[in-house]
Amino acid sequence: MVKSIPHNRLTFSDAECDAILRTVRTGQWAQGPRVAELEATLAHRTGVKYAICVASGFSALRLALGATGVSAGDSILIPAYSCVALANSVLTWGAVPVAIDVESASWNVDQELCLKAIAKGRPRAAIVVNTFGVPAQLDEIVDAGIPVIEDCAHAFGIQLDGKWLGTRATVGVLSFYATKLIGGGEGGAILTNSHEIADYVRRARDYSDQVPSAFRMNDKMSDLEASLVLAQLERLPEMLSRRQQIAERYLRLLSGNSTQGYILPVRKEPRVWYRFTVEMKASPAESIVSELRTLGIQAALPVSDWRTGELRGDSTADRAYRRIVSLPLYPTLTEDEQDSVVNAFRQVCEERTDAAVRY
Ligand SMILES: *Cc1c(COP(=O)(O)O)cnc(C)c1O
Repeated sequence: MVKSIPHNRLTFSDAECDAILRTVRTGQWAQGPRVAELEATLAHRTGVKYAICVASGFSALRLALGATGVSAGDSILIPAYSCVALANSVLTWGAVPVAIDVESASWNVDQELCLKAIAKGRPRAAIVVNTFGVPAQLDEIVDAGIPVIEDCAHAFGIQLDGKWLGTRATVGVLSFYATKLIGGGEGGAILTNSHEIADYVRRARDYSDQVPSAFRMNDKMSDLEASLVLAQLERLPEMLSRRQQIAERYLRLLSGNSTQGYILPVRKEPRVWYRFTVEMKASPAESIVSELRTLGIQAALPVSDWRTGELRGDSTADRAYRRIVSLPLYPTLTEDEQDSVVNAFRQVCEERTDAAVRY
């Protein structure tokens, strides 16, 4: 039996282990000097005035919404194809997630449809995701005058037209969940140039010594997490270029087959290769994932459908939920492992073509 290839594997070395040990020895494990250092580093690297660390990407989304003045009953635009964290962050305020359809290929929210929704319904804010690492188009949504949150859980560390991802809108949101581009176990951050937003998030993440409030929870990040993230930030450029090399190799090995039943991900540069996603032309992604599993490859449906009945329909998002398969892609994936992924994926696709021809 071949060893199975996981969908994710963390990248770390002695640097991360040493960083944790050093923090343990300082005796300051909660939010302290390492969190402050991470905030200064993030702000310096991206050129924003304020970076504020919080407990998770979800905390960052929730507090970013609070900071932009969201209240009960407000409509918030979010991509129809997205992580359920977005809808949940809206629901915590008693606000209403309005699902906007996405574009094929980039799988990012359709900017034109956002503009139409803004013209029609006066939403309070919009959350835009750089899905799977492809920068979303958001300039015109920002220009439309509503607060825009740029979710960079899938894409960080590159610039677009001279601006770092995470700095293109009112607030940028980062996640340091273990399997994201930069892992800290858990953790997140907001990036902003607004003093008011930074001040709100700084006060809202910590209830100590403040008046009672249902909106102040414990959203702090710990120094243990911050020390991991600082170590991971140092290797980010190297991790991103390794991801790109692997993605380019996948693209080479998986293209040029005329009978193929799949569409390869967009090459568009600049982008981050957080996920390598393939769109199946006819087969359900779910069955491809389970067939790959029998061959020892842990592929995945990258996003699961959170929408309730009335939001479903015949949309690009529906197709994305049904047809997109995410293949293993991370810096420690060896060439042998990449070959196993490619061979298994081709085998599964060819068997399906044969079956379709035979019956
Ligand atoms: C993971 C993720 C989040 C939430 O981040 P957590 O740190 O896990 O709470 C938000 N948005 C997107 C696009 C994500 O992928």
